[in-house]
Amino acid sequence: DISQTKILQIPGASEKLNSCLKEIYNDFAVSDEKIDQIIKRFHVEMQDGLERDNGLLPMLPSYVTVRPTGKEKGTYLSLDLGGTNLRVCLVTLNGDSTFSIVQQKYTITNEAKADNLFDWIANCVDLFIIENKLVPDAGTTMIPCGFTFSFPIVQSAINRGTLVMWNKGFSVPNVVGRDVAVMTQNAFMRKHLNVKIVAIVNDTIGTLMASGYANPDSQMGIIFGTGTNACYWEKREKILKWNPTEDIAPFDEMILNMEWGAFDVASTTLPYTPHDNKLNRKSINHGLQVFEKMISGLYLGEVIRNALLWLVDRRVLFNGRSSDILNDSYKLDTAYVSSIVADETPNLDDVKLILEVTLSIPDTTLQDRQIVQEVCKIIGLRANRLSAAALCAVLLWRPELLDKEMTIGIDGSMYEFFPGFDKGLIKEMTRILGEERAKNVKLVLAKDGSGVGAAIVAMIASKDLE
Ligand code: BGC
Ligand code: MG
Repeated sequence: DISQTKILQIPGASEKLNSCLKEIYNDFAVSDEKIDQIIKRFHVEMQDGLERDNGLLPMLPSYVTVRPTGKEKGTYLSLDLGGTNLRVCLVTLNGDSTFSIVQQKYTITNEAKADNLFDWIANCVDLFIIENKLVPDAGTTMIPCGFTFSFPIVQSAINRGTLVMWNKGFSVPNVVGRDVAVMTQNAFMRKHLNVKIVAIVNDTIGTLMASGYANPDSQMGIIFGTGTNACYWEKREKILKWNPTEDIAPFDEMILNMEWGAFDVASTTLPYTPHDNKLNRKSINHGLQVFEKMISGLYLGEVIRNALLWLVDRRVLFNGRSSDILNDSYKLDTAYVSSIVADETPNLDDVKLILEVTLSIPDTTLQDRQIVQEVCKIIGLRANRLSAAALCAVLLWRPELLDKEMTIGIDGSMYEFFPGFDKGLIKEMTRILGEERAKNVKLVLAKDGSGVGAAIVAMIASKDLE
């Protein structure tokens, strides 16, 4: 459990090993003062993003202005394109804060990520429609669909969204700057699918809407997964850049997609280590999403791999030898890191299995395994503390909300599976906000919530169209 991580004590460690580990510990430590600086800087970047387009943080208007009540009723199709999977969902909202869902998961192929994404999506939807024998409602010709798209889009309406940039290893050409709702709809037409995209939302917004359906006091949606990001309800008058080109009904508040993975793009505040810089330089979106690269599941294993190789090169780990697999970028999956951190057996048997079988490192010693586990904990703890800082920055942006109970809907593999991630957030939140205020904040796992959330937004959007 990373929320308990303290300074390293490897039994029988040599002086050289201790000094190397100390260096890693110091590099990856985030002091309380640093956390305060990060929160202050977050507020500067949020304000900038509220004032202008292309601000320091994107702070993108979602065109979602109606809070769910839990009374919504009906059946809607939704798509959830994440970093790893596409889920096609048929969601039935029961009108009593509960729902049922029929869904199919399709793992996104590398070819789809780099080339034929929209036709690939249309194919999956086609398969789902056939398998579930879906037809449009009587008197209509199209099945309405809400689309969760887990990348930054600039919207001009609830069903319009222009891609700002790809993240999380996607690189489909000729999409940046174009409307992804239209591109998906065109792919549907090429396949003669009777499906109409009536709403497009970021996954954080889907998560917040799903959370709001079960808990109407939901104020914020967060993803700690393959990537990381958050959204929250902002007051109309605070969105100074608001200048819609199309008609939209008057509103008091709107959900903003912060795109907080882009925090500190000017590199003024975060405690980057050489291991982070190495990852950043080699990544296809170098210089971008630098906060995301310190926190989220796609990158965490890679930062740790860099740190482990640094120890190997100093001949204090694995007797100075690596393996072809460990030498290869992104081969230390964050899912393995979770298992390594979770191992409580006295001989670290699970760590042994991952190192020797998965990563092909022969004959590890117990000390090797202890070192690897400690490094995973230290770098995991950093991700956790930086995550807590971002979360608290948003809470402190609207401190009046902390005076009463509220819910934050959270989804993603880091939050769900990384040992102690949830506890660590609460611990840090309590330190930063004080016990009284922290007690009012309920963190709720909204597992796969964005599929449900997109269905709710589709429902709200179809009502607008009537
Ligand atoms: C994307 C966000 C998304 C987040 C979580 C980031 O890479 O830019 O739009 O919400 O990942 O999936
Ligand atoms: Mg997702």
